Amino acid sequence: MSQLSQRPEYDVCIVGSGAGGGMAAYVLTKAGANVALLEAGPEWYSTRDSKMLVPAYASPRRGAGSREKPFGEFDGCIGGWDIEGEPYTTAPGTKFSWWRARMLGGRTNHWGRISLRFGPDDFRGKSIDGLGDDWPIGYDDIKPYYDEVDKLIGIFGSNEGLRNNPDGIFQPAPRPRCYELMIKQACDKLDITCIPGRLSILTRPLNGRMACHYCGQCGRGCQTNSNFSSPGVLIKPALDTGKLTLITGAMAREVTIDKNGIATGVTYIRTRDGTEQHVRARVVVLAASAFESARLMLNSKSALFPHGLANSSGIIGKYITDTTGAGLNGFIPKMVNRMPHNEDGTGGNHIYMPWTKDNKKLDFPRGYHIEVGGGFDAPSYGFMGGIQRYPNAGGYGKSLKDDYRRYFGASVGFAGRGEMIPNDDCYCELDPKVVDKYGIPVLRFHWKWSDHEINQAKHMQETFHSIVAEMGGEVFSPMPTREREYGLAAGGTIIHELGATRMGNDPTKSVLNKNCQAHDVKNLFVADGGPFVSQADKNPTWTILALAWRTSDYITQQRKAGAL
Ligand SMILES: Cc1cc2nc3c(=O)[nH]c(=O)nc-3n(C[C@H](O)[C@H](O)[C@H](O)COP(=O)(O)OP(=O)(O)OC[C@H]3O[C@@H](n4cnc5c(N)ncnc54)[C@H](O)[C@@H]3O)c2cc1C
Ligand code: SF4
Repeated sequence: MSQLSQRPEYDVCIVGSGAGGGMAAYVLTKAGANVALLEAGPEWYSTRDSKMLVPAYASPRRGAGSREKPFGEFDGCIGGWDIEGEPYTTAPGTKFSWWRARMLGGRTNHWGRISLRFGPDDFRGKSIDGLGDDWPIGYDDIKPYYDEVDKLIGIFGSNEGLRNNPDGIFQPAPRPRCYELMIKQACDKLDITCIPGRLSILTRPLNGRMACHYCGQCGRGCQTNSNFSSPGVLIKPALDTGKLTLITGAMAREVTIDKNGIATGVTYIRTRDGTEQHVRARVVVLAASAFESARLMLNSKSALFPHGLANSSGIIGKYITDTTGAGLNGFIPKMVNRMPHNEDGTGGNHIYMPWTKDNKKLDFPRGYHIEVGGGFDAPSYGFMGGIQRYPNAGGYGKSLKDDYRRYFGASVGFAGRGEMIPNDDCYCELDPKVVDKYGIPVLRFHWKWSDHEINQAKHMQETFHSIVAEMGGEVFSPMPTREREYGLAAGGTIIHELGATRMGNDPTKSVLNKNCQAHDVKNLFVADGGPFVSQADKNPTWTILALAWRTSDYITQQRKAGAL
């Protein structure tokens, strides 16, 4: 017997342990499958490793960001825009940034936990306005999975009956903070829908996890496991089944296939010693994040698939999107010298402004929602963004300290997060020359916003200005002009990248079928943001989780039926 056939063959090999990979591991092990989970980064559990309660001043850096912790040195997530030895490239003229995690649980260790369902219209955009493409599934196909995700993971919110912002199975939402109540008052006057936030943070105990104690430090990872992260909520229970083999420090390089084009497993580089290893499996699920999974498929070349695995359509890497983003800060004089009070809460917004407008009267399609910031958050390096901008503020010594005290909590921030329409100018491909430190070819990005997104950013800015004005406030910086695309953030920087292995009914125009199964390779699946056909104006992770559950259920059914 050859050495190869003596090695264990797993039922399923999953690549990546973030939102999608964690959910696939949870559902498949609970269904009895023997699963190997490959994760490029190290182990990390917030209950053990988080710096949740360390004050920023306890560090010489005062909590400032670093290369591997760009959101602050105590942030829960290892990764960033720039990973040593793991470059990506951009085509000339392209501004694009790619944020990547490298750890157990991926980006779920510090994500904002804004957890939104896509609405019925979000799956059929083309039928409504002729742009982009419809999904091969509709809201009714995914609704039962959203319900299960709500129940398993836990989410707070309120049922509002809004047509394209579906209700869920919510725990009670926390009360808005003072500045959030003021924003809501202004929005009510301006007829901007403002409702309680929807975050995957427990306000009631659930499945052995404690309710939030409102320390506001979710980004560092929750020591009481009260918010959602993949290691705490999905991977730990999957390990408890005894069915999961977790292999960290394993950078997947290639999905291997047999002569019939059936996936046989995954080759990976063991990061601690650079050796090449192979996991054998009957089914392969890629969940390395939307673009990493596409990269892996493009790098898995063979005589049967010379342009990358399951890429007979040539669509891998195409139709990629990111959420649009534009922001603004407003100084609110009536909040100066506020009485200091406990304004803690969850590590995110307690209010949310969903898009509820009618687009037919506007110069951009689809919509956006608004996220807010402000209040008496624990200060860290760079807080308040430059005291000298406030009226008569700055200087040295006592007067400077007094200015900080007076103005602390007297500004509010708005961030628009909107839908981008996929376009032909936005795609990624393998760079023909550049490889990473493991010798694996890297991705090269092409990116160009269209007028749809630029006009949307203008509308965001106008809306924010109107809210600040209604609050009696002032905006320090002038509104960005058309030349600056109205402050539209560069592609990738909102960190909601999707597409690249999109699903569809037509195998010449999509990579996966409606079950996220490769058209070309029946035992290959994608369970991250890759299968998305369009963005929606909602943050994507709740949909990644629901789709990964649906895909895993399908794999279980197919295995039972003997088809996989
Ligand atoms: C600051 C921030 C705030 C965010 N806020 C929100 C929010 O409020 N709401 C929301 O919906 N979304 C938010 N997101 C986005 C959200 O984090 C992602 O949508 C989600 O985590 C994607 O899940 P994933 O499983 O596809 O990828 P990830 O969570 O990135 O996990 C991918 C995993 O795969 C591993 N991996 C990659 N390549 C390989 C390889 N070749 N071999 C082995 N392993 C590999 C990585 O190490 C990583 O652990 C935010 C993201 C950031 C960074
Ligand atoms: S705010 Fe709540 S969920 Fe977030 S870290 Fe603190 S206790 Fe955990």
